Amino acid sequence: MNELKSILYLVATPIGNLDDMTFRAVQTLKEVDFIAAEDTRHTRKLLSHFDIHTPLIRYDENNKNLVGGKIIERINNGESAACVSDAGMPAISDPGADLVKLAIEANIKVVPVPGANAALSALICSGLDTTKFTFVGFLPKTNKKCHETLENLKSREETLIFYESPHHLTATLKNLLTVLGNREAVIARELTKIHEEFIRDNLKSLIDKFDEIEVRGEFVIVVEGNENLDDIEEQFTNNQSTSENIFLVYNEFINSGLDKKSAMRETAKKLNVSRREVYNTILKFNVTV
Ligand code: SAM
Repeated sequence: MNELKSILYLVATPIGNLDDMTFRAVQTLKEVDFIAAEDTRHTRKLLSHFDIHTPLIRYDENNKNLVGGKIIERINNGESAACVSDAGMPAISDPGADLVKLAIEANIKVVPVPGANAALSALICSGLDTTKFTFVGFLPKTNKKCHETLENLKSREETLIFYESPHHLTATLKNLLTVLGNREAVIARELTKIHEEFIRDNLKSLIDKFDEIEVRGEFVIVVEGNENLDDIEEQFTNNQSTSENIFLVYNEFINSGLDKKSAMRETAKKLNVSRREVYNTILKFNVTV
């Protein structure tokens, strides 16, 4: 493999069970010139288990801007590199995605070495629809942004997949229930590890279960899509009436003598919507703002 120079390999590593390491992953990690890892201490353990002695450099969320360019420069100078994350597929909910963008901009060949991935492992055992799904990953941490994201997903008919850390699990389940309603869901816990389990129930019951116990381990949450077309129609009608309302209130303020900027601000305040939403609605109604 070493005659193939100037390549960035994206190498999947196990998400729990070391036997999920592929032969090709071991071979690639042995033969590249260096490995860019999210957590070098964590990856060193994996490398020593497979008797791999390739030099490691740290590439993570904190140093990615500084180190990314250096990695690209080394690859451009003829070295080959592998990017690994703490677990699973690099570039899925981790900084590897930014390295891939840099490599593509620099015309560097990017090669996948596939393997374990938490989202797909959870989905295939969920029993929910696997023909259409959306991988959401981690939801935003603030409640407001989290609700906004979920509102945008509410009418989607496909299965939804979320990543979550143990200390946010119940809060996220509550947000899912509030915005999406009481849907069927699956919590895939500790995938490929000794205590692997799939807990299948509706969101309300899942919250009751997890409220009572100390939450430990790693989790993927898989939620059924919106199967109720009436909801979608209702949401569409609601959205329409909100837009019309925004337009009417805005016009009232304009007619009462306010300038456009103040009318937008007052409309947003009165209807408890964002100024951006008022602005977009006014544009939609073809009014110059
Ligand atoms: N790159 C990884 C992948 O391909 O799945 C995901 C990395 S992301 C930073 C970490 C999240 O993945 C965790 O918070 C959890 O939601 C999920 N995860 C990783 N390993 C898992 C496991 N063994 N069981 C359940 N979820 C897991």
